[in-house]
Amino acid sequence: MMLESKIPDGPLEKKWSSHCFNMKLVNPSNRRKYSAIVVGTGLAGASAAASLAELGYKVISISYHESPRRAHSIAAQGGINAPKNYANDGDSVYRLFYDTLKGGDYRAREANVYRLAEVSGIIIDQCVAQGVPFARDYAGYLDMRSFGGAQVSRTFYARGQTGQQLLLGAYSALSRQIGAGTVKFFDRREMMELVVVDGMARGVICRNLRTGVMESYVADAVILATGGYGNTFYLSTMAKASNATAIWRAYKKGAFFANPCFTQIHPTCIPVSGDYQSKLTLMSESLRNDGRIWVPKKQGDSRAPSQIPEDERDYYLERLYPSFGNLVPRDVASRRAKEMCDKGFGVGKTKMAVYLDFTDAIKRNGKHWIEEKYGNLFDMYHEITAEDPYADPMRIYPAVHYTMGGLWVDYNLMSTIPGLFVIGEANFSDHGANRLGASALMQGLADGYFILPYTISDYFARTKFSSLATDHPEFTKAKKGLAERIGRFLAIKGKQPVNEIHKKLGKIMWDFVGMERNEKGLKKALKLIPEIKKEFWTDANVIGDSDNLNVELEKAGRIADFLELAELLAFDALHRKESCGGHFREECQTPEGEALRNDKKYAYTAAWEFTSDDKEPKLNKEPLTFEYVKLSERSYK
Ligand SMILES: Cc1cc2nc3c(=O)[nH]c(=O)nc-3n(C[C@H](O)[C@H](O)[C@H](O)COP(=O)(O)OP(=O)(O)OC[C@H]3O[C@@H](n4cnc5c(N)ncnc54)[C@H](O)[C@@H]3O)c2cc1C
Repeated sequence: MMLESKIPDGPLEKKWSSHCFNMKLVNPSNRRKYSAIVVGTGLAGASAAASLAELGYKVISISYHESPRRAHSIAAQGGINAPKNYANDGDSVYRLFYDTLKGGDYRAREANVYRLAEVSGIIIDQCVAQGVPFARDYAGYLDMRSFGGAQVSRTFYARGQTGQQLLLGAYSALSRQIGAGTVKFFDRREMMELVVVDGMARGVICRNLRTGVMESYVADAVILATGGYGNTFYLSTMAKASNATAIWRAYKKGAFFANPCFTQIHPTCIPVSGDYQSKLTLMSESLRNDGRIWVPKKQGDSRAPSQIPEDERDYYLERLYPSFGNLVPRDVASRRAKEMCDKGFGVGKTKMAVYLDFTDAIKRNGKHWIEEKYGNLFDMYHEITAEDPYADPMRIYPAVHYTMGGLWVDYNLMSTIPGLFVIGEANFSDHGANRLGASALMQGLADGYFILPYTISDYFARTKFSSLATDHPEFTKAKKGLAERIGRFLAIKGKQPVNEIHKKLGKIMWDFVGMERNEKGLKKALKLIPEIKKEFWTDANVIGDSDNLNVELEKAGRIADFLELAELLAFDALHRKESCGGHFREECQTPEGEALRNDKKYAYTAAWEFTSDDKEPKLNKEPLTFEYVKLSERSYK
């Protein structure tokens, strides 16, 4: 299949505005004739559902949470980017575009990234108008801080709770529409199948998680805003419930999956402390504005941090990357932390951690200043570790945090299935091989508030829809298939809790498909994952039944999909014989240990097409061409 990215012609700065002009509009009085299902109520889904309803379309909003507010987006801490240049420090749309493209190791589309930078400013205006309480400076202007991969301050924030405040804004907009009757919200429904009729996405089948009843929903278009798939690795900073089922089911119905191996490992997480842990906690990147990362210069040094004098500390990021220092991008900071620990410089009981130290900032600005900026993060660290980070440095280690891969979409955010749009972290997005901090919130809200509402209108205006009801044979077939699948889970009657199997998968993924990958390890993972899959289908113990609340059954469905996705992820990582961003192949590195890309062979998006359960997926390539930015080795020195 030819992948058509549908990037508009014309100069970079004009592409989106001229595309907006050229797209067809739907007359306001005709809009109520069109309907859309939005799956997910995180920042991407809530903003899209609210905006589409505000335009006048009929919207069905679905979430497995009992309230839109519980979406994983609520966990976002550090901030959201926009090149407002209030700090007068040289920021611009072009600089944000450049930083993002470079930060992603040149594995994203120029046109998309430019559009993202272009619309990011109005997101801030929109959110301020909604009442989002961004931090302000003494004069009352919005305050900003810096994030990795940038030398300007462009990150707007609300303490360490930015996602929560933004989601409350989007949720208010959504609630207004629910109240007005333009959005029908269905909580505790898990989308488990996509329904495609005459080649177009026309509906979904959900399991009502309270009653177990399978329900069909029909519309003219389906929008997936279902978040990322980092939990394939079992341990991650993502919400425990975040899963890949919606996008995986769509993949199996014909939507291509792009760059599945591009996984972000975040450098500042609380280290793993034991075998029974089910979740990892992020310490926001914003902390790297004022915290300094270091390890002892002596290997195996077990002195308390306060006992290690200044000249016996190695502030290795400041030493290796003097220009960016502690604010190098996440992929670089993560690999260097791992390298330090692997070489024996790690700290803490497990020696798998480095220090993030605020002593200097506290001396400079006082404890109160730190409390105001990062108070909730310090409290969180204290709650989890029982250590006081104001007195002793935090211990941090990298962890899986975000997935840059996802369903392939064209410039209009439409997947390879007509009528199936994918937004937010669920699509393969604009971040290339590595996402810069504070860019996910920007992308999710750009997609939901300002891009999808235009492009979906064009789709509605250009498409003829047959009238359809949920008794259509495709709905009946999808429901029957799902009932059989659920029956298979319950019939396994093995011995292992599904969680244990997920944990085993996670270990394989972290060991062989994690922060550093090599051919031998990836081949091993591709041998081990099918074995675990077999273990699942022969020995999982899915207790209870299907006609009421059954959390084990919910988990089983999600883990079955993670097991399949894990294989695609490893397969993609094996085929890409280069290092770029979050994908580091040990075989491909510079003498200084930096990622060594191969632009001649791999400057493309890998879009995988499902063939059948027993055949390898088919690789489709979307070449990436760069007219405005010169490809070069990423340097943060
Ligand atoms: C701890 C943490 C901190 C972060 N901090 C920042 C930050 O400071 N800045 C930044 O830019 N980014 C940050 N990120 C990343 C950012 O939070 C996420 O990428 C973003 O919020 C994803 O939003 P989303 O709307 O795409 O998906 P989500 O918020 O994950 O929402 C997914 C929605 O889909 C629903 N859903 C999923 N599957 C189904 C299904 N099958 N059926 C029904 N409903 C379904 C869920 O119920 C939920 O409503 C952070 C991430 C983490 C983990």
